Amino acid sequence: MFDSFEAALNEFRQPVDNIAAARAFVAGRDFTSFYLPPSRTYISLIARGDSRPSAWVNKGFVWFRNDDGTQEGIAFPYNKVLDGDGNSHQPRREEAERHICPTPGCGMVLPPNGVCDYC
Ligand SMILES: [Zn+2]
Repeated sequence: MFDSFEAALNEFRQPVDNIAAARAFVAGRDFTSFYLPPSRTYISLIARGDSRPSAWVNKGFVWFRNDDGTQEGIAFPYNKVLDGDGNSHQPRREEAERHICPTPGCGMVLPPNGVCDYC
């Protein structure tokens, strides 16, 4: 568990091209805790007052939950995981959604092997 995004970033090999975009996302929100799962495939971000993460910084995109429960992703400039259409950087929602743990109340992003690190 880290109390700064920079500390978490130091343990997470985000492509250099994406670090500025990841910082910009975090800077616009009020996250207070950050941690990496054992697989180190993403950084979980916990907002102030929350006990569960509501955003996950992956290698090529950030996935996050809005206050109304909807989820969306923002692709970073260097993105091998999600395909944009070449003009926009919107990730394909159904592609990313497949990687969210289906266990009620969990909602963690699953690593590529599909096995939740927490369930
Ligand atoms: Zn889970």
